[in-house]
Amino acid sequence: MRKLCFLFCLLACILGAMLYANDGQAEASLPLPDGPAPAAAHVQDTVKVQVVFPTMTPAPSAQPTPSTAPAMLTVYDEGRCVRMEMEEYLVHVVAGEMPASYEEEALKAQAVAARSYVSWKQAAWGGSGCSKGVDTDICTDSTHCMAYLSDEAMREKWGERYEEYYDRIRSAVLATQGEVMLYDGSLIQALFHSSSGGRTEDAQAVWGAAFPYLQSVSSGAEEESGQTRAEKRFKIEALVKALNQSFTGAELTAQNVEEQFSIRSYTASGRADVVKVGKVTATGRAVRTALGLNSTNFSVAYKGGEAVFTTVGYGHGVGMSQVGANLMAKEGSDYQEILTHYYTHVTLGPLPEAQAN
Ligand SMILES: [Zn+2]
Repeated sequence: MRKLCFLFCLLACILGAMLYANDGQAEASLPLPDGPAPAAAHVQDTVKVQVVFPTMTPAPSAQPTPSTAPAMLTVYDEGRCVRMEMEEYLVHVVAGEMPASYEEEALKAQAVAARSYVSWKQAAWGGSGCSKGVDTDICTDSTHCMAYLSDEAMREKWGERYEEYYDRIRSAVLATQGEVMLYDGSLIQALFHSSSGGRTEDAQAVWGAAFPYLQSVSSGAEEESGQTRAEKRFKIEALVKALNQSFTGAELTAQNVEEQFSIRSYTASGRADVVKVGKVTATGRAVRTALGLNSTNFSVAYKGGEAVFTTVGYGHGVGMSQVGANLMAKEGSDYQEILTHYYTHVTLGPLPEAQAN
C-alpha cells in the first residue's frame, strides 16, 4: 500500500511538474513568511488533479479532538513529492526558519507557529495546499511556503555543531508535538517574520484583509536591543533608474528625486503606506520590493550624491517577530506566552482530527 501511494505520488508529481513547468510566477496572496522567515497568505488556488479531501469545517468554538495517528503531509521538494510525518518535517522547517542558537522557548514557539501554518494550508483541514505540485500541502521554497533545510544543508550550515543544533531543534519540536494555535476553534494562518523593530504590523495594513489574530502588537524589547536597524545606500542615478524601472510613468530624474520621491502616509505601526514616486503613487511594499529594502519601515536621507535608506526590522512585520520571540524567551517568557502575545486571542491546543489524512 505504501508502495502504491508512493507510485501515485510520483506520477502526480511528474504530471504536476509538467503542468507547472512554465509557471515561474510567485503566488500572489497573503505573502509567505519572509526574511529569514518567509510569510504566506491567500494562496491563489490552481486546478488540482483528483483526490479530493473531504473538507472539514470545524464548528466554531468546538473543542478540538486530539489526533491519534501521526499527522502526515505531502511536501513538494525540487520536483518531487515526499510524504512525511509532520514532526519530522517541522524539524527541517524550524532549522530553515530560525537560528538554531535561539532560546529553546523561541524555538518551541517557532515550531508551533510552523505547525499551525502548515496545518492551515493542508487540504485535510480545509486549506488550499501549495500550487507548486499536484495535491501537495506545502513546498520547500521559502519565498513560496516555508523554508526547509535538508539534512545535508543542516550539516553544511552548522558544521561541527550539527548534532547539538539538530538535537536542540528536535527537542523543541517534540516538546510541542501536535500542538497548534486556534482562533475560535479553527486553525490560524500563523504568519511570522524576522524582526519587527519594536511593533508588529496589522495584517490589514499589509494585505487589506483583517485577521482578528494578526493585529499590531508591541515588540518593545526589539527596539531597545537596537539590533534591527540597517542602512542601504544608493547612488542617486542608481536609485532613479531602479524606481523608474519599477514604476512606469514615475519620470524621476537625478535633479527631482529628492523632492519627488517621498512617503505620503504611514500605517498605524509607522511603516510606509503610500509613497509618491514622481508622477505615480505606490505602496510602501512595492517600494520595498523595488529597492530590496529590509522592511517598509524606512526613511531616506540624501548625502554626498547618495540616498541613504535606514530601515527598521526585517520582513512584513505581521504575526510573530522571531527576534522579539527570542528576546521574550531571554527575559523568561515561555513559548505559550510568546505565542499568545504575538497572535491575539488565540488558544493553544492539539491539532484537530482531520477527516482525511
Ligand atoms: Zn509552496
